[in-house]
Amino acid sequence: TEEIHIVGGGMAGSEAAWQAANRGCRVVIHEMRPERGTFAHKTGNLGEMVCSNSFRSDDHEQNAVGLLHWEMKQAGGLVISTAYKHRLPAGGALAVDRERFAEDITDALRSHPNILISNEEVSTLPDDGQWIVATGPLTSDALGQAIARETGTTALAFFDAIAPIVHAESIDMDRAWLQSRYDKGETEEERRAYINCPMDKDTYEAFIDALLAADVTEFHDGETAGYFDGCLPIEVMAARGRETLRHGPMKPVGLTNPHQPDVKPHAVVQLRRDNALGTLYNIVGFQTKMKYGAQADVFRIIPGLENARFARLGGIHRNTFLNSPTLLDSGMRLRSKPNIRFAGQITGVEGYVESAAMGLLAGRLAAAEAAGHPLPEVPQDSAHGALVHHITGGADARTFQPMNVNFGLFQPLEGLRSGRKGRRDRYKAYTDRAKACWSDWLAAQSPAEAAE
Ligand code: FAD
Repeated sequence: TEEIHIVGGGMAGSEAAWQAANRGCRVVIHEMRPERGTFAHKTGNLGEMVCSNSFRSDDHEQNAVGLLHWEMKQAGGLVISTAYKHRLPAGGALAVDRERFAEDITDALRSHPNILISNEEVSTLPDDGQWIVATGPLTSDALGQAIARETGTTALAFFDAIAPIVHAESIDMDRAWLQSRYDKGETEEERRAYINCPMDKDTYEAFIDALLAADVTEFHDGETAGYFDGCLPIEVMAARGRETLRHGPMKPVGLTNPHQPDVKPHAVVQLRRDNALGTLYNIVGFQTKMKYGAQADVFRIIPGLENARFARLGGIHRNTFLNSPTLLDSGMRLRSKPNIRFAGQITGVEGYVESAAMGLLAGRLAAAEAAGHPLPEVPQDSAHGALVHHITGGADARTFQPMNVNFGLFQPLEGLRSGRKGRRDRYKAYTDRAKACWSDWLAAQSPAEAAE
């Protein structure tokens, strides 16, 4: 069989390699770390999570990202099975111990008989052989330039911001408390998965003033300052309106302060456990481009964080992605150079799960092509299909921005009530329909996978 080359061993590249290798292909992963790093990756491991340690909701009946989990599991996905193995308590979310997760992914790929890992930067788009480029939001400059030359694009990148991480022991638990919103979770540990810091009205107003006054990192010439709406820096949210944060990441609902059970907080800052030891917590939704000095001052206004020590402050980062609707065909191949497939965040999906899912598809599509048996089209009613259809055709190329999976990408269902009450039925119907067609698609490739 033909060899498949994968550039980048992140979420997408790792999954693509696993899928292709399990279909009998010989796979070479070209990963530039640890020789050449990125500002966000800290190790040489494959499948490293660069920011939050969460794969988001695991609810596969009511949530589109939970549905992606389910579909990946059915397809023998490496990323999802490793995530379940290293799961941490986090209410309804699938959070993991990031170190063990990446170590396990690396071991699994390294010990696979069909996979070779080559630590080197790839800086061109080769003319021969089958390639999957999965170099992610922090694609190296040289390769980014090669892609820009091939696609005739002037700008490939825009910017996202990341949230700070706090040492748990520096949080004042006489002011803060442990609780998941609405006490969600199966176990006592899950129901206490978050640290909550309450704010009264005066503190909230002072906090907003400080946010609005803080120094922020400026963009350099030629950089695009467009933000993906799901990942807005808090100071940008605050600038949109003084109440915006109180209705977003700081909403005070579903939480009761045991130190003052009779006082309803005006706002609540939540921190989510970031490692198995429980020594680190990230501030949920607090991605920011405030300068480092300003960040520590502003965050220490939060009750409970007066003496907080930060394991990592927030920051801004580049997000490289293609205008996939114009550049890729429905099989994720570059139209102008079909021996090159793209996968992961660089295709214009957003998030670990979505990136891994696009890796899963790319790996299977490439393996089928190598074997000379092209796959039936990915069913559009599955979560994988809805996403890949969006990026390669459904989205408006003129306004194309990175996309999280969501039910808005699914073809509508007839005859179901709309409105709040009907929503649960509708989401259940979407997920039922998706599971059926995804299972059929898998079964058409390998009857054994249809089971379950
Ligand atoms: P990555 O996982 O980044 O993998 C790409 C790999 O390619 C890397 O290992 C890199 O070293 C390698 N590489 C790059 N260029 C080359 C080259 N030329 N040759 C060889 N190897 C190369 N998503 C979330 O769901 N939650 C978050 O909290 C979150 N926070 C983020 C914070 C930051 C700072 C960044 C940059 C992204 C964040 N994302 C987050 C998005 C996240 O990166 C993606 O969801 C996911 O990691 C993308 O998967 P990927 O495989 O496409 O890229």
